[in-house]
Amino acid sequence: MACTNCLSLGLWYLIGLILFEPAMKNETILVVEDEPAIREMIVTTLEMAGFDCLQAAEVSQAHHLVVDHRPNLILLDWMLPNGLSGIDLCRRLKKDEMLSETPIIMLTAKGEEDNKVQGLDAGADDYITKPFSTRELVSRIKAVLRRSSALSGEKPIDVGGLSLDPASQRVSAHGKAVDIGPTEYRLLAFFMSHPERAYTRTQLLDQVWGGNVYVEDRTIDVHIRRLRKVLEPFGFADYIQTVRGTGYRFSNKID
Ligand code: CA
Repeated sequence: MACTNCLSLGLWYLIGLILFEPAMKNETILVVEDEPAIREMIVTTLEMAGFDCLQAAEVSQAHHLVVDHRPNLILLDWMLPNGLSGIDLCRRLKKDEMLSETPIIMLTAKGEEDNKVQGLDAGADDYITKPFSTRELVSRIKAVLRRSSALSGEKPIDVGGLSLDPASQRVSAHGKAVDIGPTEYRLLAFFMSHPERAYTRTQLLDQVWGGNVYVEDRTIDVHIRRLRKVLEPFGFADYIQTVRGTGYRFSNKID
């Protein structure tokens, strides 16, 4: 009898080791969605993928949870009840200095380009159009978390030999140190953590300078020029691309 107990204790210990060995604190995702069936499906998916979840069905409840628990990411439905939409919450959070860094992925049933742009303008980091596969959801969440940890000073980013280390705020090209000013550094850090996407000057101002600072759109062009000049000797100036009619994009694919 004692032996059976020992055996099952040992077994539980082993299971515990297997389950908790990586001993990493799970990242917490706040799921804001008013349709219970969809919310539960998302929560189940995310928990299976190893995330902890918080749930809210409308904006004010979601805001309380963000303030109290500081989730690592918010999955935010666009259409929510009580007269406040996901966009309203997004704008409110981005205005709050303490909470503005929390990455947000908008969930939207609306596929039109206008709504996507509106979501990104409001400060969302990404958007997913319903219906989506659970696999896509998890991979998009992981991508946004990777980017945000890069910007907040965790892992170095490398694109084709151009490296940026957020911890030391150093940039190097093929191992050689790049002498870069603080604003150009922030611009490059934003670009490298958000590659292959065109940003308007206004979006870059919001993301790199912060929404509350008054800077003219033209200022962006000046810093883009300086950034290219800094990267030019190393052959990376072409990574900072002008997107006609929109703004700028970071890409290692040369058209
Ligand atoms: Ca909804």
